[in-house]
Amino acid sequence: MATYHIYVDWHVPGYQARVHLSTCPFCNEGKGIHPHARYQYGRWYGPFATFQQAYEVAQQLGRYRRRCKHCKPA
Ligand SMILES: [Zn+2]
Repeated sequence: MATYHIYVDWHVPGYQARVHLSTCPFCNEGKGIHPHARYQYGRWYGPFATFQQAYEVAQQLGRYRRRCKHCKPA
């Protein structure tokens, strides 16, 4: 069963928290596409069991909460 992860991008002004599915290629089980530079560009949080749980944490992390357009978690 897929889990949910949050990525907070630090190089976007007024950073945003984005929710991904663990199966998303951009998420890659929370490792991301920059495994050696993850803390330089942002941070992953998770895994979370449900989208609701991940979304609630995302609300606490940043002003902008978004679903990934690629994996469309729900
Ligand atoms: Zn995604």
